[in-house]
Amino acid sequence: MPLLEELKLSRRLQVSAELEFDTAWRIGTGKEGQTSSDLGVMLDPLGRPVLPGSSIKGRLRATCEGLAHALGLRACFLNSEASGVGCVSDISYHQRVRNHHSRAIEDGPQSLLAWINDHTCDVCKLFGSPVRGARLRCADGQLKTTEMAIVQVRDGVVLDRDSHTAVPGLKYDYEVLPAQTVFVVCFDLDNPTQQDEALFGAALFEWAAGSSLGGFTSRGLGRFHLRNIQVRGVDLADAKQRIAYLTATDPSKRLRDLGDWQAYFTKAIEQASK
Ligand SMILES: [Zn+2]
Repeated sequence: MPLLEELKLSRRLQVSAELEFDTAWRIGTGKEGQTSSDLGVMLDPLGRPVLPGSSIKGRLRATCEGLAHALGLRACFLNSEASGVGCVSDISYHQRVRNHHSRAIEDGPQSLLAWINDHTCDVCKLFGSPVRGARLRCADGQLKTTEMAIVQVRDGVVLDRDSHTAVPGLKYDYEVLPAQTVFVVCFDLDNPTQQDEALFGAALFEWAAGSSLGGFTSRGLGRFHLRNIQVRGVDLADAKQRIAYLTATDPSKRLRDLGDWQAYFTKAIEQASK
């Protein structure tokens, strides 16, 4: 695809799934004296907990970074020196190649896009970088059923770092959502390349098998797995699909069902690994 064409939406892939917590999921309370969780509390207008899209995306990015090498793809880990992968998402690398970047800007948009493409690792191509938009978007995870959303408060003790014993009188509360809480999550990939689909697909397989999210994962909290994964898509080059996409009032009819997700992504992974 010519690089400028990449800026127009020509194909969209959408994956929805249910994310079920196998162990309780810790949500931060923001109370004083508490170590901050990497997941902020988010409530919807009705006061129900929401799984922030940014947290899902952050965890998915880490999963993809771990899988990139096995797929023969490049991951910068936001540290070009340590990873040996030059990528403009690492500010120090960007500083080093700034002159080339300025030259590419002067040479026009085609040249600039080619430059960005050459200086962005495969993970940042999917997840975005300071100089290019992300091809992947994650919506906030919505609670599937409200009955399950009973927030439990647990006691934590503060441990002395040297003696590893509890410090008398120092306690704090933390809130968890119980195991079996289910959120509906949704991912959109715009104009995904074969590499994008392979990377994302491999991460889906890993999450279907089980992963973890949130604070206190070393204590076994925040284990989850994906289930009921569905893959849908639209190819706007196809007239029939384009009209359906542009005229459907039922959101579920805008995109075509692409069948079994495992078969779909296995093919993407096989093609990328050739
Ligand atoms: Zn990168």
